[in-house]
Amino acid sequence: MPLSSRDAIAPLRITRIVAAPLFGESPKGGWSFEIKAEDSIHALVAVHTDAGITGYGSCFTDGRLVEAALEVLEPLYRGENALEPERVAEKLRQNTFWMGRGGTLTHAISGIDIALWDILGQVTGLSIGRLLGGRHQDRVMPYCSLLMDEPARLADEVTVWRERGFRAFKIGWGPFGRRNDSRLDEAIVSAARDALPPGGRLMVDAGASDAYWPNGLKWALRTADMLAAYGVEWFEEALPPDALEDFVTLRNMSRVPIAGGEVLTRRQAFMPFLMRGAFDVVQPDVTKVGGLSEQRRIAWMAQDFGIRYVGHGWNTALGVAADLQLAAALPNVDLVEYIAGSAYVDNIMATPFQLDADGMLPIPDRPGLGVSLDRDRVSRYSPHAARLFDA
Ligand SMILES: [Mg+2]
Repeated sequence: MPLSSRDAIAPLRITRIVAAPLFGESPKGGWSFEIKAEDSIHALVAVHTDAGITGYGSCFTDGRLVEAALEVLEPLYRGENALEPERVAEKLRQNTFWMGRGGTLTHAISGIDIALWDILGQVTGLSIGRLLGGRHQDRVMPYCSLLMDEPARLADEVTVWRERGFRAFKIGWGPFGRRNDSRLDEAIVSAARDALPPGGRLMVDAGASDAYWPNGLKWALRTADMLAAYGVEWFEEALPPDALEDFVTLRNMSRVPIAGGEVLTRRQAFMPFLMRGAFDVVQPDVTKVGGLSEQRRIAWMAQDFGIRYVGHGWNTALGVAADLQLAAALPNVDLVEYIAGSAYVDNIMATPFQLDADGMLPIPDRPGLGVSLDRDRVSRYSPHAARLFDA
C-alpha cells in the first residue's frame, strides 16, 4: 500500500497513571542511614490507555512521593496522547516550574516518560532503540555493582558473581573513605582486583552523595593516585555532587577517569558539568533525570563534549531495560550498571535477564522496552501490584 494512502495511527488517550512502590527486598545502599525492609525507594509505574494498551516505567525514589506526584500531575496528563512521549513529558516539566525544577516531580516524570516510550513501541511494533534512531549494537556488557565490605568478604562476593559470568565489577560505598583509613581503602580495592576474572574490569564508587560525606578534594586526589595503581577504570562520586570546581580540578589532575552525575535531575543540571569538563564519564539515571527523552539528550550532549556516557538505571528490571535500549540507540556505550542480587531486577519479569557466554546482555529488539513484568512476581514486592495490570 502506498504510504500516502495510509492513515496515521489514531491517538491513544491516557486514562490513568498508577504507581506500585516496591517493598521488602530493596538491596542495601551502603548508605550511612541504611535502607530498611519497610522503606520504599523504588516504584514501578504503569500508564493505562483507552485502547487497553499499558506501558511500564520505573522511578528511583520513595514510592509515596511518586504517588503524590502522579496526583499533582494528573490534570496535565489525563486525556493526553500516549503516543507522544517527548511532548507529553516536556508538557509535564514545563508546567510544574513553580513546584521546584527537578527532584520528586522529575523522578515521577521519568517513570511516565519510560512508560510512554514503551507504549509507542508496542503500537508501532518497534523496540525503543529503533524508535530513538536505530541500533548501534545488539548486546552490551553489564557491570556487576557490589557494595564494599571488609576485604576478605568482598573478595568472596566478587568470586560469587564472577562465577555467574560477570566480567566487569564496580565496588562502592560501605566503609570506603568513611573510616579515615587509607590502608583499609587500598586493601578493599586490592582484594577486589585479585578476585577479578582474567581481563576483568574494575570501577570504584566512593558514593560521596551520601549524607555528610567527610572527605574533600585532597582525599580524592590521593585516593585517585592509589586507584591508578590498580588499573581502576573510573573513580565515581569521589566528591559531593555539587562540588563542580573541585570535580574540574580532580578530573584534570587524576590519572583515573572521573565519573559522576547519578543524583542530578533535568538535562539543564548536567550542562555546567559537561561544559566545565567535570567528568570523564557521566552517569545520568534514566529513572531520575526525566526518563528516556531526557537521558537521550544528556547522552548526546556528552558525546559532543567528548565525555563518555554510562547509564545508572539499575533500580529495577525496567530501569535496566531502559538503559539497554539507550545502549542500543547511542554509539560507544560499552557498559550498563547491573546491581548484584536485586530481586527487583532479577525476579519481577516473565523472562529474567540472562548473560551470554561472553558476559554480555542481549538488548531486546521486541516492541517497546522489550520486557514483560510478571504479575505474580511483582505482587511479592508490592501490595499495589494489581494497579499496574488492571486498567
Ligand atoms: Mg554510584
